[in-house]
Parts: sequence; C-alpha cells; structure tokens
Amino acid sequence: MQKIETIRHSLAHILAYAVQELYPGTKFGIGPAIENGFYYDFDLPRALTPEDLPKIEKKMRELIKQNIKFEKKVVSKEEAKKIFKNQLYKLELINLQRSGLCQTYRGRVSVKLTEVGSLSVYQVGEFIDLCKGPHVKSTKEINPEAFKLTKIAGAYWRGSERNPMLTRIYGLAFKTKKELENYLQKETEAEKRDHRILGQELELFMFDEEVGAGLPLWMPKGAILRHIIENYLHQELISQGYKWVVTPHIGNILLWKTSGHWEHYQENMYSPIAIDEEQYLIKPMNCPFHVKIYNSKIRSYKDLPIRYAEMGTVYRYEKSGVLHGLIRVRGFTQDDAHVFLAPEQLGIELKQLLKQGLKILKTFGFKNFNLYLSTQPQKYAGTLKGWEKATNSLKYALKSLKLNYQIDPGGGVFYGPKIDIKIKDSLGREWQCSTFQIDFNLPERFKMFYTAKSGRKSQPIMIHRALLGSLERFIGVLLEHYAGALPLWLSPEQVWIIPVGTRHEKYADSINKQLTTHNLRTELKDENETVSKKVRSGEIQKIPYMLVVGDKEMKTKQVRVRERTRGDIGIMKLDKFLEKVKMEIDSKKS
Ligand SMILES: [Zn+2]
Ligand SMILES: [Zn+2]
Repeated sequence: MQKIETIRHSLAHILAYAVQELYPGTKFGIGPAIENGFYYDFDLPRALTPEDLPKIEKKMRELIKQNIKFEKKVVSKEEAKKIFKNQLYKLELINLQRSGLCQTYRGRVSVKLTEVGSLSVYQVGEFIDLCKGPHVKSTKEINPEAFKLTKIAGAYWRGSERNPMLTRIYGLAFKTKKELENYLQKETEAEKRDHRILGQELELFMFDEEVGAGLPLWMPKGAILRHIIENYLHQELISQGYKWVVTPHIGNILLWKTSGHWEHYQENMYSPIAIDEEQYLIKPMNCPFHVKIYNSKIRSYKDLPIRYAEMGTVYRYEKSGVLHGLIRVRGFTQDDAHVFLAPEQLGIELKQLLKQGLKILKTFGFKNFNLYLSTQPQKYAGTLKGWEKATNSLKYALKSLKLNYQIDPGGGVFYGPKIDIKIKDSLGREWQCSTFQIDFNLPERFKMFYTAKSGRKSQPIMIHRALLGSLERFIGVLLEHYAGALPLWLSPEQVWIIPVGTRHEKYADSINKQLTTHNLRTELKDENETVSKKVRSGEIQKIPYMLVVGDKEMKTKQVRVRERTRGDIGIMKLDKFLEKVKMEIDSKKS
C-alpha cells in the first residue's frame, strides 16, 4: 500500500497531464502534495473558471483508469534543458539547481541532482516532469473516486510578487471514497459554523474597512458575551488569590528595551509614537507593566506567590493575508496573568494553575485537550540547571494531575519551558488556547528581588499564563464549537417573550419584568409581526428560550415554553420556568 502523500503527489502529475491534454501550450510550475491533497501551478493559455474543474477531473479519471506507469529517467542537465526547452519555469528550476541555489524547493517537489550533473525526470504517459519522486508505480494504485478538484487560486511563481502570477489548482485526495466524503462533510459542517457568518447573524461583532483590517468592533450583544466571560474569569481568579490590575496601552520605548521586546519582538510591534520628544510603543504584551507593579515595593518570601491578572488589550502586527475573522486579528484582549514566586514553589503552583485552567475550559464545554510540554531550545536565557528544575516542575504538575502530554523537544521560548493546552472542538479540530510559560529572563532584566527566609536577596521566577489566550479568538472558537447555540449562561439574550396579539402585550410585559428582576437577559418581542415570524427569527438568533403568551396562558397565568433544541415543551407556571432556567444557569450547563 502506498503512502497517502505519494498518492497525493502522483495525482498532481496526473492533474498536470490532464491540463496538458486539455489546454495545449500550458507552462508548468510545480505540484506538491499538501495536507489532505495536492496542487499544481500552471501558466495557462486562458483563464480558468470553476466550471473547468469537472472537465479536468473527468480527464484525470480517464487517465487513471488507463493504468499508466510512472517511469523514472535520469538525464544530464543538457538533456533536461532539451526536454523542457519550451517550459520556462522548469528551465529556471534546472538552472537554479546548477547554481546550487535550490536543493529542495518547497519541501517535497525538488529538482535533485541524482548524480553529479544529472537530474531525475518522471514520465507518465505523454507528460514528463522534473521530479525526485516518489510516485506510485502505476495509476492503478490511485482510487479514481477518492479525489476531487476543489478550487482555483492565483499564486506567484516561487512565491515572489516580482514573478508572474500562475493559476493554482487545488485538489483533495484520500485513499478511499468514504474518507473523501467524510472530509467534505466535515468541511460543509465547518462552513455552516463559520464564526464570521455567525458573528453577523447573531449581531456579536463586525469589521469595518474604514476602521481597519483585523480590528473587530464588538456590538452590544457581543459586548455582553465578553462581559459574562470576563466576570466569570474574574470570580474564579479572585477566589484563587489573584489580584486584579489595569495597565496602559502604550509604554515608553525604554521599557520595551529593558524587557527585550524591542530587540527580539520588533517585527510584531507597531511603529513608535512620538510624545514630547520621547518615543512610545503600543503594547504587544502586558508583562513589563506587571513586573513594574511587583517592583514598586520590597517583597518578602512571605508575600509569594504574587499573582496579577488583567484583561489586557494588546496589539500585534499580523500580515493582512493571515487575518481571519476573530481567530487572527491585530488587536485583542488577553486574559493575562503573571505569577511571581520562589523557585521552590514552582511545582505546586503549576499544578494549581493547570488544574484551574482545565476546570475553566471544561466549564465552557470543552472536553478534549491535548497538552504539550516544550523544552529547552538551542538559544536560551538562564542556566542549564534552572531549565532542568523548571522542566521537572512542569512534568511534576502534569504527572501529579495524571494528565497525558506530548513533549515538543526544543520547542520552549528562549526564556523558559512551557506547557500549552490545545482544545479540541466538536468537529475534532485543535485550537491553541492556554499557555503556561516559565520565565527566567524578565526577572533578571528588571532586577526583581525578594528577601528570602535566610535574609538573602533572591530572584523570583515568573510564570506567564493565559487560559483563554485571546478573548477574540476564544469567542471565535466557542461560536464554531456550538455552531452559535451558546449555553444558556453565556447567551447574550436568554429569553424572548412573545405576545400573540396586542391584547397580550401587558401580560407579556409583566412576565418580562419578573424575569429581569431575576437577572435574566430578556427581550419583549412586541413588534408588529406574526408569532411564527418572531419564532423563526429567534431560532436564527439561537435564543435558548421563547415564551409565547396568548389567551390561554394569560387566563391561567402561565407561559408556553419553546426550548431551542426541543421546540414547544408545553405550558407551565412562570415560577416553574424560572426554577428550571436558574438551575441551568447556575450549573453553567453546556
Ligand atoms: Zn513527482
Ligand atoms: Zn507575560
């Protein structure tokens, strides 16, 4: 059985072969295997439209069914130049090879010198390509029903804007038709859950060109959602001995020079702002501010650990091409915290941090996590002994909580080892979320101290930790996880009250008032619309409960309850309804 990557890459050759047959005169770029499929870049005699894809696919199937062999030939560079004399991109690759600039190009596809001065080419039917392989032996090994061409996109030759724009055709490929179907189904499901669309439908957030790319505006309902999340975190952290702090959005460049951000992190920061002859930077992180608060007093071992938390809004440069809804933005709010402690407190504190972190993530309804422990990279601050101790404390915390984890060797930040938690959403997708990073560097740079029990001046260790990571990103993930149907405790609007006719409005209003006195977030839907239209709109907005009140409900002093997932669940006394929803909210049921 061939590796799926080999099948995917071989399909790229078949795609190019089909294109050569259908569009004579095409110039060929490269065609590697990628995650879940493959692509090939072409310089075509005419522009393609999505309608061309089924034609190309059909041709590919015909070719596959002919059981064509992939034949390897080793040729000299001169021969190769002759073979590809009309293929300018291939010629460029051959020449690059000679000058030794390009041993492997873009990972899998490469022009490799097999011997001194010779190259390997592969022929499949009438199509010949420069390639080092490997490929299937024959198209017989490819399932003609397990691939699909998905899209056409522009791509610069060799990724440079100075080069011509080529047409890239993407395909998906799996070993079986079933796998392909499963993938496509999951993708459709993911599209339906796209948080960018949900954000609009639920009126949570928006973007505006005039405001700028990657800068979300939180609308009233989105702001409520943020507020609920922040409140919950606030309560949790205060109960765990954190102190809340608030710090500015900009800081003098001197601060960022001391912290090392100016030297090591500049590419992610925005240009300085001049204020009174001095330069200021918009903060990409909150850490140096928290350090300054620590340093405002002489600290004793008795004060440690000191834990500062902040909902800190930071700004980081991201290329416009990678911006994506709330997942990748240029300004976001971190649920940031820093713990300053004595080295001997590290293990216990980390255990507590991890335990609390997982509890909070579970409360939001996430059940599956992958944990990663990243160890010492080649370039590092601090001492080897310090790294070893810190890494052992992280292991101790993981082990004592009986957590499974993977090691990412050398994946730590230069200032210390770390644990990352990735959450798995309801579609099985993995999202980077929490991080717990040990830092030996900032305490050194900012000359932080505490008086140890022995009376000696000692340096504390610092832990950077974010649980949700970025509030923006987390809400994006939350929306996709729940397909917008947030649990009752998180829903910006929890209950709608819908009077059947104008004569029921007064009763509906009294219901509304009673619910709001119990701190429920409600809306009285007294617009001049039909009940069914209001119910439909409530369903689109994923309102957890709708109470419909008409003659019968008014006469018996009851309400008719529609539950988001179950529809009409009958009529009940308001007290009974209140008791039900209060229980659901208090238990943060997801
Ligand atoms: Zn190849
Ligand atoms: Zn930090």
